[in-house]
Amino acid sequence: MQKLTADSSVPAELSVKVSPKGSARLKAGHPWVYRSDVTADGVPPGAPVRVTDLRGKFLGTALYSNSSQIAIRMIDSGPVADLPALIADRIRAAIAYRKIFVTDTDAYRVVFSEGDFLPGLIVDRYNDVLSVQILTQAMDAEPVRGAVVETLVEQLQPAGIHERVEARIRELEHLPARASGLMWGQKSSTVVAMNGVRFLHDGKEGQKTGAFLDQRENYAAAAQYAHGEALDVFCYQGGFALHMAPKCSSVTGVDSSRPALEMADKNAALNGRELEWIEANAFDLLKDYASSGRQYDTIVLDPPAFAKTKRDLEKAMRGYKELNLRALKMLRPGGILVTCSCSFHVGAPDFLDVVADAACDAHKSVRVLEHRGQAKDHPIVLNVPETSYLKCLIATLTE
Ligand code: SAH
Repeated sequence: MQKLTADSSVPAELSVKVSPKGSARLKAGHPWVYRSDVTADGVPPGAPVRVTDLRGKFLGTALYSNSSQIAIRMIDSGPVADLPALIADRIRAAIAYRKIFVTDTDAYRVVFSEGDFLPGLIVDRYNDVLSVQILTQAMDAEPVRGAVVETLVEQLQPAGIHERVEARIRELEHLPARASGLMWGQKSSTVVAMNGVRFLHDGKEGQKTGAFLDQRENYAAAAQYAHGEALDVFCYQGGFALHMAPKCSSVTGVDSSRPALEMADKNAALNGRELEWIEANAFDLLKDYASSGRQYDTIVLDPPAFAKTKRDLEKAMRGYKELNLRALKMLRPGGILVTCSCSFHVGAPDFLDVVADAACDAHKSVRVLEHRGQAKDHPIVLNVPETSYLKCLIATLTE
């Protein structure tokens, strides 16, 4: 493992050259250039670099990684004299954007990496507890970490900032292993409220940074249409289930993770509700339920990303097809299907095709109520397709 020597407080005097292909990508507004299109001699891991084309024309400043396939991520179209200061400004801008566009919640994504022009940094707010994920060599440099913590404290006055480490990402970025833990303050658990529904948050537990905040606006949308007997498949800690509960005669949540269901049950109690939670493999359970003729009025499908890479695409499509087919078979006339995909590699048209295919095989006629995506605290930058990944289709079966 190489030692990190990047000192991001010095001006970006180091430079890299990009091929014509890389330069075309940058001109089209995409911040990434892949290793095969970058020449970087003697650049330390994580350093800020001047980017030029082969003729030496200046294209902007980027953050370099010596291990990722994405060799550089642009951070600015001009020179950068003080990277920590630039990062602090970007964090303030990200917070200002949320003040305008994020409502009805004290849990939301404060910084969404490329979506906030801060490649490699994720910050989620859970009321007075913040959760930080650092995904690249440049963001891991000490002066940058310092600027991140200082700016978050100055702007949001949290009681605790907790770092969530994904060991696999640090390995891929050739960063030394590090444990998850508090970066600042003492507090790592709290209670949040989104759309008037309350959830417990434990910064040390759970998947991702604790919750799937990208679904927040879809919870509210699903609740608008939900009725009768509802089934929330891949329910995790009960996000959809608890939002739908006031509108439904019964709600059952299904997940394969016991800790997630235990938290879901506590969340239900916190909201004065009693829901049914079933620990099961969703594929097996839907197969059993569909073949035994069970019926529901509302079904939510929110599986994990089946296609983590392009290679998984075909298998992923089969997975989505099977889930949607079984769900559609179980829906009563007039029923509501809320079906999601968070695989970036499955595009919105592909996802619609797969649900259409499932409807055809189930001999059901489906009408679209809403095409939805991720909540606005996960901003999509038009020139960066990778910032758009969540699809959420709300549809109804004809009577
Ligand atoms: N709907 C949730 C998020 C779902 S994330 C929310 O809004 O919070 C995907 C969930 O699927 C995770 O909770 C994971 O534990 C669960 N999961 C993964 N594979 C599964 C399987 N085969 N059967 C059931 N649950 C599964």
